Amino acid sequence: MRFENKVAVVTGGGMGIGRAGSLAFAADGAAVVVADVNVEAANKVVAEIEAAGGKALAVIADVSKQADADRIAQQAVETFGGVDFLLNNAGIQTYGTLTETDEELWDRTININLKGMYLVAKACVPEMLKRGGGSVVNIASIQGLANQRRVAAYATSKGGIIALTRSMSVDYVGQGIRTNAICPGGVDTPMMHWTVGLSVPEDQIRDTIREAGKSYPIGRLAQPEEIAKVATFLCSDDASFMSGSIVVVDGGYMSLL
Ligand code: NAD
Repeated sequence: MRFENKVAVVTGGGMGIGRAGSLAFAADGAAVVVADVNVEAANKVVAEIEAAGGKALAVIADVSKQADADRIAQQAVETFGGVDFLLNNAGIQTYGTLTETDEELWDRTININLKGMYLVAKACVPEMLKRGGGSVVNIASIQGLANQRRVAAYATSKGGIIALTRSMSVDYVGQGIRTNAICPGGVDTPMMHWTVGLSVPEDQIRDTIREAGKSYPIGRLAQPEEIAKVATFLCSDDASFMSGSIVVVDGGYMSLL
């Protein structure tokens, strides 16, 4: 086990990529703080980790609120003694061109997807410094690098995460905190099901996702575990010279002309 006596904070840890990340950190021996707005989902993941003999704590928190972000780090310290890793993952998918995006939608997207990563990192980084270092993985998206149509606010938030990752790396790597970003392509998560469900009826969602996977050179979308494994690798000593890296995990999608 690579992460014995380590503590991992996972935001949006109740579902999708965050759920897979929480389970992956726990399988590697870390105590996991599962931070999520969704009480039921967070508690379920904690129960799964505990049933497998691991240690976990649910913290019900909205990452876009300073007080909630601070409470995530505080509870990690109170319950497990500190913070070593942060998987900054919580996010929402939103749609709209610039003119279709009203101020409320813009603010909600940027506040959860980008400000949320800043707030939780700001609360966790001082705790990592007290332990002599740590590792942060920010979940961006291939949409931070190239855009679909009608994702003005979402893509802006993801581009911002990439810039934040660079800043955090430059500012903290000398003090032992490595920060990297992952840009996933399409991943088969509840978010993907919600997105596809906007345009097809419920009973066609699975087939539509399978069909969408054919536009990827690898022939399918990712499973959340395939993103989680890259996140735990980036936190491990095997990635000891990686910081400020923007790691594209997309089944070859961005390579295709
Ligand atoms: P998901 O919707 O399946 O799960 C997201 C989790 O975050 C949920 O448990 C939700 O309750 C939680 N969450 C949402 N808002 C929150 C908030 N304000 N505070 C705390 N928790 C909150 O999503 P997913 O597909 O697993 O996506 C996770 C991350 O990966 C997001 O940042 C997303 O933008 C990114 N991403 C996803 C895909 C994809 O295809 N699924 C692709 C690229 C990037």
